[in-house]
Amino acid sequence: MAKPSGDYPRYLQPGFTPFDPVALAGRTEEIVCRGDRRKYTKFYCPGVYGRIATGYTCGCCLRCIFCWVHWSRDFPEKHGYFRSPEEAFYDLRRIARKARINQLRLSGAEPTLGKAHLLGLLQKVENSEFRLFILETNGILLGADSDYARQIARFKKVHTRVALKAGTPQAFTRKTGAEPESFELPFRGIVNLLEAGASFHVAAMTADARFVTREERKALIERLASIHPALVGNLEEEVVSPYPNTLERLRHAGVRLQWSEQ
Ligand code: SF4
Repeated sequence: MAKPSGDYPRYLQPGFTPFDPVALAGRTEEIVCRGDRRKYTKFYCPGVYGRIATGYTCGCCLRCIFCWVHWSRDFPEKHGYFRSPEEAFYDLRRIARKARINQLRLSGAEPTLGKAHLLGLLQKVENSEFRLFILETNGILLGADSDYARQIARFKKVHTRVALKAGTPQAFTRKTGAEPESFELPFRGIVNLLEAGASFHVAAMTADARFVTREERKALIERLASIHPALVGNLEEEVVSPYPNTLERLRHAGVRLQWSEQ
């Protein structure tokens, strides 16, 4: 069984070696994808977005120190089960119908791993009775592959949420483990979505002053404004939440946050 071996950190620890996230995406796809099938860890309806039927994907191309996702992010070969696009759609439809909701979502780890699977699933959704599909992504592969954004933009029920991780290349490496050169990829992904006419918005943890300095937030906002001013007006600003997996990853990274300050 393929494993992301010593080339890539499972989670960040002090002194880690920065990695190429596109190469890690490819390595992870060898584990979590087989043809148009890909691994999931679970399907259920959380309370976000006013309740939404969600498939949780297995494997990611970043190693964010604030990541809340299941340990399948770090050890994808040990977790999850394969679903074809049809099977994933049936799982989403089953839980959505049971909860009487008409919106679907893919979320953490990174749903854009496995392009054939995702596009196959989006086609099923497009032909279905469901109203909305939210695709959550870190934007790395949408920046590396401009065709990906064009393909996603074909589906009118899909809205993409691109979660930016940092406002400067140095902070991007410190928080995600990825090489500073790859900082540009999510912004390129945003440009690609914009040029393709896709429905999307941007999120960032810029509301958390413990985690993002004023200068870093300013740099991120200026970068977005240089692409399109509306991206700033629609920016979803979040804070880091103390999920158990987040606390554990922060501890491994040697980062301490004061939770009482929130
Ligand atoms: S926060 Fe998202 S992009 Fe970052 S490691 Fe977790 S799943 Fe991947």
